[in-house]
Amino acid sequence: MFSTAEAWQAILAHAPRLETIPVPLVAALGRTLRVDARADLDSPPFDASAMDGYALQRASLAASLRVVGESQAGRHFPGTVGPGECVRIFTGAPIPAGADCVVKQEDASREQDLIRVQRTGVPDYIRRRGENRRAGEVIVPAGTRLGPPELAALASAGLTRPEVARTPLCAHLVTGTELVSPDQTPIGAQIRDSNSTLIAALLQQTGAELAGLAHARDDLAGARIVAEALPPHDILLISGGASVGDHDIARPLLAALGYTLHFQAVNLRPGKPLVFASRGHQLAFAIPGNPVSHWVVFQLFIGPLLRHLQTGRAAAPELLTGRLAAGCRLPPPDSRHTFWPCRAALSGGAYELTPLPLASSGDSSGLVGANALLPVPPPPASLAAGQSVEFILCP
Ligand code: AMP
Ligand code: MG
Repeated sequence: MFSTAEAWQAILAHAPRLETIPVPLVAALGRTLRVDARADLDSPPFDASAMDGYALQRASLAASLRVVGESQAGRHFPGTVGPGECVRIFTGAPIPAGADCVVKQEDASREQDLIRVQRTGVPDYIRRRGENRRAGEVIVPAGTRLGPPELAALASAGLTRPEVARTPLCAHLVTGTELVSPDQTPIGAQIRDSNSTLIAALLQQTGAELAGLAHARDDLAGARIVAEALPPHDILLISGGASVGDHDIARPLLAALGYTLHFQAVNLRPGKPLVFASRGHQLAFAIPGNPVSHWVVFQLFIGPLLRHLQTGRAAAPELLTGRLAAGCRLPPPDSRHTFWPCRAALSGGAYELTPLPLASSGDSSGLVGANALLPVPPPPASLAAGQSVEFILCP
């Protein structure tokens, strides 16, 4: 049986590199840039005024100066400023030929076409061509997550189709003869399928696409037909039937589909019978059907894998430190590494962690509020209110 760390390494070892595609600017929000973005022009592209005022020659400051024209943002003064002359200028407008400084309008008095300068500042109030960025310089390095400021920087460099990893495509095969859809009322031994919704929402939150969803009964031949009809995908998620019971079909199904199984159990509670497999560039997971197992396995492995495919960062979940707001019922003694779903909230700048009162890993409404996992290594030690603990904050 693999440890969680060994399982993560096995997953990474088989993770494909998704192709790079160009996407429209705002569609790239939250995605990771694959190639360095460089400035195509100097910024600013010309010497520009930093103030509203007058552009002139510093040498002619003592005398009164004749206003010979105007330079606006977007419309430059076509002539040359000579001695004893100035040009009315506005912020962002090109500095006219001949001028070597700008006097702020507050520091000059004007009567018709003449100005007198009352005070000259040391700064010349000129934003020099290229002082922000030279053409060819990297403005957004590869590996950067594209937020609004980065998208605006790309727009300013004319890069309207940033290169990012294509969206990972997932197919979800939900197995279980007992399952009915959420809009049906279960009869007898039936239960409602909540994992389809859980997985669809988790995929959306992670930036992956649910390319196909299908349901199969616990019957290998039938499930194979359903699985083979799924649309193209990078990752196949099979819910339920991952264990070794008589009606657990996920492992033989993966084998029948041509997948190679890399692990079939992880030293983990809940989620131990997790199966990981690959077929060429495609990956597959068979996830034990209990809703809490689904959530935990997604947080520990599938979510980090999907983020890795999109960002290139192979980060396992990071540990933060917090304080237990309430005691945690100890899991029964077991050699497995337990991950207990919790609610983490900031209180006075520090995290407080409330373990959820789950009845069992089948308790799907017991997950309500979950946004963190508390690792409890074996053998489970005391978890008392007030105790400092390390935990995983789930996105
Ligand atoms: P399995 O892993 O198939 O043995 O299922 C373990 C438990 O999870 C059983 O009680 C199933 O009824 C339940 N279960 C399986 N699939 C789902 C699902 N899609 N939604 C809710 N519960 C499920
Ligand atoms: Mg089942």
